[in-house]
Amino acid sequence: ATPLALMMGTGTGAKRGILIKDADALERARRIDTIVLDKTGTVTEGRMALTSVVPAEGETADEVLRIAAALEAGSEHPIARAIVTAARPEAGVPHNPASSGAQTEVIGDSLTRVTDFRNLEGLGAQGVVDGRAVVIGRPRLLDDWAVPLDPQLRGEFDAASARGETVVAIAWDGKARGILSVADRVKDTSAEAVRALTGLGLEPVLVTGDAEEPARAVAAEVGIDRVIAGVLPADKVDVVKRLRAEGRSVAMVGDGVNDAAALAQADLGMAMGTGTDVAIEASDLTLVRGDLRVAADAVRLSRKTLGVIR
Ligand code: ADP
Ligand code: MG
Repeated sequence: ATPLALMMGTGTGAKRGILIKDADALERARRIDTIVLDKTGTVTEGRMALTSVVPAEGETADEVLRIAAALEAGSEHPIARAIVTAARPEAGVPHNPASSGAQTEVIGDSLTRVTDFRNLEGLGAQGVVDGRAVVIGRPRLLDDWAVPLDPQLRGEFDAASARGETVVAIAWDGKARGILSVADRVKDTSAEAVRALTGLGLEPVLVTGDAEEPARAVAAEVGIDRVIAGVLPADKVDVVKRLRAEGRSVAMVGDGVNDAAALAQADLGMAMGTGTDVAIEASDLTLVRGDLRVAADAVRLSRKTLGVIR
């Protein structure tokens, strides 16, 4: 294609809400045959709401939520925000900076003190809340701490997962204290976007750090057959590498810090404009409004601008 055609391509892109870093990106977009989609924040809104709290025997739901929210105030994860918002509906958003050491957090009437907060990327969070060593996150994290879920909590956990909810467990002082479920919504535009992408001959693959059941539920809702769940942030990039090793030309769409390496590794990285700066910096294209349908527009635009593959 001529430089003029490429410039027209990038200009038209901008009008549709696609920011293109360089003309090479359009050239690569034209060749894509596989599109890896992050689940949370890309296919779904990424705004989760708490749906239930189940305390272990001897605990109350209020206490489980209070301790969970105190700890999660230090995290920016959508699950953390849902828990904090449920505990303090009037506050709306957490305000504790994750980086600082000792913090004092007012929740309800009680003064809760959080120290030694640590975000465990793709797993959960840990810290000391009112002198208790607390960990929250996927059950695998509790396994690492040698804290098993008792059969009652395990049963509740599996039931909520089967409903398509995302479930996390909380433990302190060496005992599992409860589980908390959150649910997210699939974006209104996602199913149409997947239809457009498959219509262009691309195979969509859903990838997520979330568990198999909620991932399958979302995939079924939008029409994706291939799901890779339970992927740690560091391993998302390997999913892209593996697909490329199969000889595919791979696009990746994501929004999170945990997607950045995979976005950079893909033949074409597309970031949600509503996502993190890290994801945007790692990508070739930005979908300004966070509308997945625009990913299909980008591929269509590249084919139109540069002609069909010779
Ligand atoms: P995704 O790939 O869908 O964006 P993440 O990699 O961010 O998901 O998280 C994977 C899993 O790790 C979550 O489903 C949850 O079980 C757990 N997790 C991550 N961060 C937190 C947190 N702050 N609190 C509780 N659980 C968390
Ligand atoms: Mg995400």
